Amino acid sequence: MPELPEVETIRRDLEPLVSGRRIVAVEIDEATLPLLAGATTPIEMLRASLAGRTITGLGRRGKYLLFGLDDGRTFVAHLRMTGRLLWRDSEAPPEAYERGRIVLDDGHDLRWSDLRKFGTWRVMDNVTPLFEKLGPEPIDDDYSARYLRQAFKGREAAVKSVLLDQEKVAGLGNIYVDEALFEAGVRPESRAGALGDAAVKRLAVTTREVLLRGIEHRGASFRDYVDGQGNEGRQHMYVKVFRRTGKPCYTCGSEIQRTVVGGRATHYCPRCQRFPRRRSKPA
Ligand SMILES: [Zn+2]
Repeated sequence: MPELPEVETIRRDLEPLVSGRRIVAVEIDEATLPLLAGATTPIEMLRASLAGRTITGLGRRGKYLLFGLDDGRTFVAHLRMTGRLLWRDSEAPPEAYERGRIVLDDGHDLRWSDLRKFGTWRVMDNVTPLFEKLGPEPIDDDYSARYLRQAFKGREAAVKSVLLDQEKVAGLGNIYVDEALFEAGVRPESRAGALGDAAVKRLAVTTREVLLRGIEHRGASFRDYVDGQGNEGRQHMYVKVFRRTGKPCYTCGSEIQRTVVGGRATHYCPRCQRFPRRRSKPA
């Protein structure tokens, strides 16, 4: 599933290509439309909102891509599980699992391909309500150990679950959370509220670092993710625990273990990652 580094890579790729371009047409596969745009949105409404508009810029918040439109509205796209947004020559053959396309005025399309069809499109007058539900991003200036300590305070939930909660911390998903917990030496099942100061400080640093490294490596392509031009990222070659079950830890040689936390497959080193000392009971 695309997380912050993958969505940011797509944003950086597409921004210079789509900014200033006018949308000339919008095509969506009929069966996909209710899933993509909501059960009550007819295609005419999406077309009326997008066709004829000029894209003023491409932003991102959490895992949302935000296309600014020249009427002040915002086209908001979320890739969810298997969504892809690809910049293609209009003459290029259709993508695998192509569900829709946004035709631009320069002979290119933005192709929407989505195997599982969980992706979403919205045109919003005001994106503030969407943003209010999202916590700070670890790469933001207002993200800190102090903020994280506050978010963890009194929480019985596993630290991994709290870090995955987009309302607490935006942009982290399964891959980067497992990596950040490994680098901080924290067991994913630890009760968030029981973490000591030093562990919280380390997590504030590692959550930021793993995302920056993910961006530097243009995202992780374990399965479906590709960038805005259809190329794979490289971050999956640099992971230390994610999907390395049974392989030796690069630090201590112990076998990487797999467990399930909050319904999510979770990978960790049993030796390098510890429960909080005072309260050793897992969440
Ligand atoms: Zn280890």
